[in-house]
Amino acid sequence: MKVLISGGTGFIGRHLIPRLLEYGHEPVVLTRSGTKARKLFGSSVRVITDLDQISNDEQIDGIINLAGEGIADKRWSEKRKQALIDSRIKTTADIMSLITRLEHAPEVMVSGSAIGFYGCRTDDLLLDEHGEIVDDYCHRLCQRWESEALRAETMGVRVCLIRTGVVLGHGGALAKMLPAFRLGLGGPIARGDQWMSWIHVDDEVEVICMMLTHNAFHGAYNLTAPDAVTNAAFSRELAAVLSRPCWLRVPAVVIDLMLGEGSDLLLKGQKVYPDRLLKAGYKFAFPDLKTALNQILEPAD
Ligand code: NDP
Repeated sequence: MKVLISGGTGFIGRHLIPRLLEYGHEPVVLTRSGTKARKLFGSSVRVITDLDQISNDEQIDGIINLAGEGIADKRWSEKRKQALIDSRIKTTADIMSLITRLEHAPEVMVSGSAIGFYGCRTDDLLLDEHGEIVDDYCHRLCQRWESEALRAETMGVRVCLIRTGVVLGHGGALAKMLPAFRLGLGGPIARGDQWMSWIHVDDEVEVICMMLTHNAFHGAYNLTAPDAVTNAAFSRELAAVLSRPCWLRVPAVVIDLMLGEGSDLLLKGQKVYPDRLLKAGYKFAFPDLKTALNQILEPAD
């Protein structure tokens, strides 16, 4: 399949694109920086910097839409919050315009979302895809992102929405945690009772690839392992895998100072269950946290 990918140079995309090539697909990476993309993927991948580089009669079979400003990269000001929304909605809207003008609509679009769809919360409610929603900024961001992508359905495209948890692999959130934990200075954030729903990057990538080719997948899916843990349990497991202590606690005020309103991402959470993936028969390669962390952190040969 010829697959257009937005945000393909990011943490998930860097794992996804080699896998797409292994499966025999033909990735087309949409990026703001052709130089960055070519450095990452070499000449095996077509790189475009504008959707105008796709002609009306070109056959695009699938789209994977991952582009967006980093959620926890900077303190949330009103301007930053708008940038988080605009970067996702504008890219998705541009893709909708592309689909409108293509002579042959793509078969499928796998479009980004996050477990923030259920809102940032302090309760223990187990959330499947019909889980109760807390109507906050995170929910509204994901909801607008999903709604924009769902417009493709009216153009005959099968749309899969990936409500993704914290993706664990080389890079991403784990890369931010590791320095402190490696120094033996890691520990839970605040009370540590907030839920962390996570997924190994290999499972994230595998599910996206399945969604491309399996027609039965459509609508919203929780992309989290079935083993959500609290932040305290996550911290203990990470420290144990690294053979380090886990006794320092990061005070909430430090997170507030760093992220402002964005501190909700770390001080609150969601206990999410991948009900639809499990019912579809998906077998997680990394269903539990210990196996996932061991695989990621095992010394390279
Ligand atoms: P990254 O931040 O690593 O990469 C996102 C990509 O989006 C970048 O490589 C960039 O591509 C593109 N991008 C960034 N800013 C803009 C902008 N202003 N306009 C257009 N494109 C932009 O994200 P991940 O790979 O980690 O995640 C992919 C998506 O999945 C993200 O939207 C993220 O919110 C979501 N997600 C990720 C989770 C995780 O734990 N990683 C968890 C839940 C959701 P380029 O520079 O090439 O244009």
